[in-house]
Amino acid sequence: MSENHEKSIPQSENISVENYDVAVIGGGINGVGIARDLSIRGLKVILFEKEDFGWGTTWASSCLMHGGARYIINDIGVTYKSSKEAGVAKKISAHLLSRRPFIIVSHSKTMIKLFDIYMSVYDMFSIMRGAIRHFKINEEEVEKITGKEVVSKGGGVVTEEYAVDPVRLSVLNSISAKDFGAKVLNHTEVIKIKKENNQYLVVAKNTLSKSEIIVRSKIVVNSTGPWADKFILNATENNKKKKRLRPTKGIHIVFPGKILNSVISFQAIDGRYLLFVPLEDRTILGTTDDDFFGDPDEIEILRDEVEYLIHSAEKFIPRIREFRPFSTKVGLRPTPYVYGVNEDKITREFEIEDDDGFISVLGGKLASYRLLAEIVSDLVCKKLGVSKKSKTHLIPLPGSENSEGEKDEEIEKFSEKIKDYLSRNFRIPEDVAHFMAKKYGWRSKEILSYYDSGELVCECSKVYEGEIKYTIEKEMAYTLEDVARRTWAGDGFCNGILCAKKIIKILLEKERKPEVEKFILRREKLLEPVKKYNQKLWEEFQKFKKEMLKD
Ligand SMILES: Cc1cc2nc3c(=O)[nH]c(=O)nc-3n(C[C@H](O)[C@H](O)[C@H](O)COP(=O)(O)OP(=O)(O)OC[C@H]3O[C@@H](n4cnc5c(N)ncnc54)[C@H](O)[C@@H]3O)c2cc1C
Repeated sequence: MSENHEKSIPQSENISVENYDVAVIGGGINGVGIARDLSIRGLKVILFEKEDFGWGTTWASSCLMHGGARYIINDIGVTYKSSKEAGVAKKISAHLLSRRPFIIVSHSKTMIKLFDIYMSVYDMFSIMRGAIRHFKINEEEVEKITGKEVVSKGGGVVTEEYAVDPVRLSVLNSISAKDFGAKVLNHTEVIKIKKENNQYLVVAKNTLSKSEIIVRSKIVVNSTGPWADKFILNATENNKKKKRLRPTKGIHIVFPGKILNSVISFQAIDGRYLLFVPLEDRTILGTTDDDFFGDPDEIEILRDEVEYLIHSAEKFIPRIREFRPFSTKVGLRPTPYVYGVNEDKITREFEIEDDDGFISVLGGKLASYRLLAEIVSDLVCKKLGVSKKSKTHLIPLPGSENSEGEKDEEIEKFSEKIKDYLSRNFRIPEDVAHFMAKKYGWRSKEILSYYDSGELVCECSKVYEGEIKYTIEKEMAYTLEDVARRTWAGDGFCNGILCAKKIIKILLEKERKPEVEKFILRREKLLEPVKKYNQKLWEEFQKFKKEMLKD
């Protein structure tokens, strides 16, 4: 152990520290999934997240709870797990999922014939997700289904996948973990870990209040995604420079509105497959897959990466340049280390490393997070001599209560039912009711009964004051960014120009620290790579920035 490390660890004999069974580090989808599983089993759990739940790679994903058709050839286990888990996700998080036709298009008729054969194999996995069997369509049908926005000289092959808001999925897992007794802390970075008397001493710092927290835990789960190597090197006694990860960078471009009803998959200039994914209030185009050797806290989006996506998409979506992108997303896949393999061939399987009760989780997919969490939790329980089994496949997430009985084909109707109830009983516009059903499920009733809807705060994503108050009081939102991630207010087309001041006012009333500068600089960083396609928005944003940061 280095001398510096020894000095920076407080001596535990003099401090009163709380004891836990498990300390989970990292509140991405995998960390919150593990914390939820273990707290449902009755273990004493603490979760630390240095920024916010689902803020990292999870947010940067393509938002698909997909079966993973592309992994059949090299990684069939990933297809199996993802398909099975997409089936479970419908039962426990029905309100978050949206069925989306998924159309693979090509300018080559031969390619479509090959896809037709390939997708016959995928059909066997589609049954596990309750999705339709694939079918072929011709070029006229592609145009008809997509309102002439997509052209393909060879036609297409249609299957079905689920879209999800990965940040809300993470927030709801963290709330559920808390409801089952876990201590769940966002904005709290773990800075040091030391083994002492067969237990781990964990030292963390709240990045908003700057206060320090020290706990003792029997097991530590390192679920820091792409930060795993950096975290081990900087915060633990293990200072061997072993590479566990080979992270790859992926970017998306974000367009306003739900441009299509179907996900479109097409070949890029280099032969890789890209996705155009319609979400509820936006559509994303991605993604790249490039080796990344830098610091995970300093990822930049290059203009070239944006051009690669736009240039490739234009071949199939001719009006792509006119859709006025308003932001971008970027993240690192926490893929396990391997040498001599092309980036997009690196396995999406996860690996678990157990170093004397310090368990590192490496890799995985959003789609199979629950299964990963179950397997890691089984290992933790075995080490602690606990015989309780996982129940996360049976207990719905907050807002999706009573969804267990829904049949596959009725999954879309679950949110419809909530939407109808809300618009009937609370007299809110249908689009607002739809968005609320998708974000909060049945919890929307609580928002509208206790908080009332109040004033419209965000016009882009139709967010009312009540939602913002709810998310601050009940969903652990502390800053402007936290509110934007949970409610979409300030995260839409205007980038906060029209609504940030109103959100700040509510945050201050609730005695929170909005962190305005951090919000503005992050929005700017994500808008800058696409400013060429939306010069007017960029200019407005610069004026807004000047006004907001003038003091
Ligand atoms: C571009 C892209 C597209 C993708 N698309 C899909 C898709 O459509 N479907 C799919 O199934 N999968 C997809 N994936 C994969 C999926 O997103 C990831 O596998 C998954 O989100 C990883 O989650 P995680 O919890 O391991 O990591 P993260 O979400 O990165 O979470 C790790 C967390 O650890 C925290 N942390 C780090 N250090 C500390 C510390 N010292 N103290 C406290 N907290 C700390 C970070 O703040 C972070 O929130 C995609 C990935 C990328 C990059």
